[in-house]
Amino acid sequence: MTRKISNGFSEKPQDYRNYVDGAFTAASGEMIEVTNPATGALLGRIPETSAAEVDAAVRAARAAQGDWEKLPAIERAGFLRQISAKVREHRVELADVIVKEQGKIRSLAQVEVDFTADYIDYMAEWARRIEGEVLTSDRPNETMLLLRKPLGVVAGVLPWNFPFFLIARKMAPALVTGNTIVIKPSEETPLNAYLFAELLAETDLPKGVFNLVGGRGRTAGEALIAHPGIDLITFTGSVATGSHIMQVAGRNLTKVNLELGGKAPAIVLKDADLDLAAQAIHASRVINTGQVCNCAERVYVEREVHDALVEKLKTLFEETRYGDPSVEDDLHMGPLINQAGLDKVAEAVKMARQQGTTVVTGGDHADLGQGFHYKPTLITGATAEMDIMRHETFGPVLPIQIVDSLDEAISLANDSDYGLTSSIYTRDLNSAMQAARELKFGETYINRENFEAMQGFHAGRRKSGIGGADGKHGLYEFTTTHVVYIKG
Ligand code: NAD
Repeated sequence: MTRKISNGFSEKPQDYRNYVDGAFTAASGEMIEVTNPATGALLGRIPETSAAEVDAAVRAARAAQGDWEKLPAIERAGFLRQISAKVREHRVELADVIVKEQGKIRSLAQVEVDFTADYIDYMAEWARRIEGEVLTSDRPNETMLLLRKPLGVVAGVLPWNFPFFLIARKMAPALVTGNTIVIKPSEETPLNAYLFAELLAETDLPKGVFNLVGGRGRTAGEALIAHPGIDLITFTGSVATGSHIMQVAGRNLTKVNLELGGKAPAIVLKDADLDLAAQAIHASRVINTGQVCNCAERVYVEREVHDALVEKLKTLFEETRYGDPSVEDDLHMGPLINQAGLDKVAEAVKMARQQGTTVVTGGDHADLGQGFHYKPTLITGATAEMDIMRHETFGPVLPIQIVDSLDEAISLANDSDYGLTSSIYTRDLNSAMQAARELKFGETYINRENFEAMQGFHAGRRKSGIGGADGKHGLYEFTTTHVVYIKG
């Protein structure tokens, strides 16, 4: 059963169906309500998928995988291009769904949708570049082939903060390399995935290649990650869930790819362009209401420019426009995702106050009558051992610590459980290069905001994850190497 997307979202809330084996399947159990975090309005209901239904999705993906793998990669890429074209055709409606269910501002939701279409095309371009190797053997008259092959069936478990893009980050490299996939979106933001499935159903993609099952983590998610028919679990989300997934995967020895939390340091040296640093750090902290794994969550600034940087940041924080993105444009940020997210941010600021910091601006809920809003909050006087410098806050809160040298800043930046991204602002090439050499992170941004490119490699160290995504190296995470020895 296919429903036209143009009739889909803006009307009254409706019940959505999983997409399994090329069909929209009726739910057999409980339905989960999806609401707008800015207003509390009901947007729709999705199925709480049972273990038996998850099993059916994995079996469908397995049944489809053999024929899918046998297709020339360029044909698989053709299906991906059909999907990206559908996304472009419905770019405005898809962005609208993201605005409503995640609370993202409209301009950023549109960037997310457009970037997703580009990302699918980018991964399709790899079809003619999936390379193996030919080696000489140690034996006479023998040649070795290193063939790059798909892993089989992939499970993609998604978070809520970039819900639409993350479908593509899992699906596109999986499919172009010959895998099939079962996606479980976050129960907070699943509707964009259900509408994506409707668009995908209008393409010629063979049944069973892409499957979508909804539900909570501890039920549908658990059934998926524990399924013995999965060859790779690619997960983006919190450290706690990532750690749990790795333990469950251990039972079946399933390969995992984990993109987890962050606590990105930004280093500002005394020779930095302070206007640039303030603008980039402010943008990095309020984008998606601070709910981005990549973005600067702690600042180390040299003493000489501390006051000047704080002054500039204070102005920018106080000029930050926030509200309900489903009715207002021209905002910097919307609400936090839910009550738990709001409570976590409020608790982090309360603790920072108790531990002796100064709240320069913000530091409280933003009372807009409804929604999970928190004021953009700038904190000074932070020190290394404080919780606000060590734990992911995931909100519009920025703590600042004074340092006296680049060496001290690098040492403090590295002294963290997290190792996803980092940044430095300086006009000195030697300082920038020292930071690039010595920062122990997956990514370092020099004199720019933290936003990764699709041809890079997004990978966290320490508790920020295992493996990575994007580019050639991300693509190859979805493959295995098969060695063939040819005598003769
Ligand atoms: P989360 O870990 O709470 O949930 C992520 C997904 O895991 C959801 O789909 C959820 O239903 C599922 N899940 C929860 N428990 C499960 C279980 N027992 N078994 C199987 N699945 C389960 O994370 P979240 O709150 O949705 O996302 C925010 C987190 O994601 C932040 O920590 C953020 O830093 C991180 N994140 C990381 C990246 C990255 O690229 N490194 C990108 C985006 C978000």
